[in-house]
Amino acid sequence: MGRSMNQLIKKSVTIVVPVHNESRGLFNFFEKLNQVLLSLDNYEWCVLFIDDGSTDDSWGIIEQLSLTDSKVKALALSRNFGKEIALTAGVEYLDGKVDAAIFMDADLQHPPEILPEILKRWEDGFEVVATIREQSPSSSLVRRVGARVFYSMMSKFADVEITPNGTDYRLLDKKVIKELSLFTERTRMFRGLIDWMGFRKTHIKFTAAERAHDTPSYTLHKLIGLAINSLTSFSLLPLRLTGYMGLFIIFSTLLMIMYMLTAQILHWDYFTPLAFVVVFNTFLIGILLSGLGLVALYIGHIHTEVVKRPLYLIREIK
Ligand code: UDP
Ligand code: MG
Repeated sequence: MGRSMNQLIKKSVTIVVPVHNESRGLFNFFEKLNQVLLSLDNYEWCVLFIDDGSTDDSWGIIEQLSLTDSKVKALALSRNFGKEIALTAGVEYLDGKVDAAIFMDADLQHPPEILPEILKRWEDGFEVVATIREQSPSSSLVRRVGARVFYSMMSKFADVEITPNGTDYRLLDKKVIKELSLFTERTRMFRGLIDWMGFRKTHIKFTAAERAHDTPSYTLHKLIGLAINSLTSFSLLPLRLTGYMGLFIIFSTLLMIMYMLTAQILHWDYFTPLAFVVVFNTFLIGILLSGLGLVALYIGHIHTEVVKRPLYLIREIK
């Protein structure tokens, strides 16, 4: 009896779709998604559209969809805040309401066809099911090279392992959503945060489709901003680097002065007074830079305090 009751209660899973000026492809997107959802009828589905300040008719279309299909829910942000913030709004809205949430882009670059596989992994006990995009032929060279440089920098400098070519197409269990909704840091990069969080994770690979419509709405400019944000919010290295440079200058100029003095005294070589002034000056610059590096360390501490990222996350208590 208990078992059959269990089978009657379907798990609720929500697809979170950030939307920024996607009116042209939205119907098509929902239709394709809906086909897959209808075939997975052992879940209680909901599609949460988050209109991130679209200036086209996206919201009108979302409203229409919500009238024709009861599983469509929608939030509209007051202006364009960026995808990361839109997803945050989704997470905070869903906390406590669902068993799992799946982030998916509205441009069909995240194929709904792999949903069954994602769900299977979740049923297997994984709390984060991430996806990895295999090289997409449509993306420009600049983007591909940029992405490669970005990930290799991240993995070197950041204090957390970021999966290369990871996408935002992922499933989060309700436990992860609960923790994520408590994060208060304001500069965020979702992929990085989720990678930082740990939990039981797994990956699925897929090949990205051509973007369904026109150019991506993430301009190169925005992408670069995002990259800088992610570097600075996960690593203090850019700051510390100046300090190291200062230390190096101090060390090398000290050696140089010592050599110059000895040479002068032992009459190996002759240096003009100006040469001494120049080297001493460089030495002072070294002190200044290392001072900056020190300040960077303090700022780093302040930074970690201010973002109030939780010290640890608990997966389970028995
Ligand atoms: N998006 C958003 N706010 C923005 C930019 C994009 O909500 O400021 C949405 C967009 O509608 C899409 C998803 O985020 O559903 C991914 O955007 P895009 O395809 O432009 O990014 P990319 O595929 O290059 O990562
Ligand atoms: Mg896209």
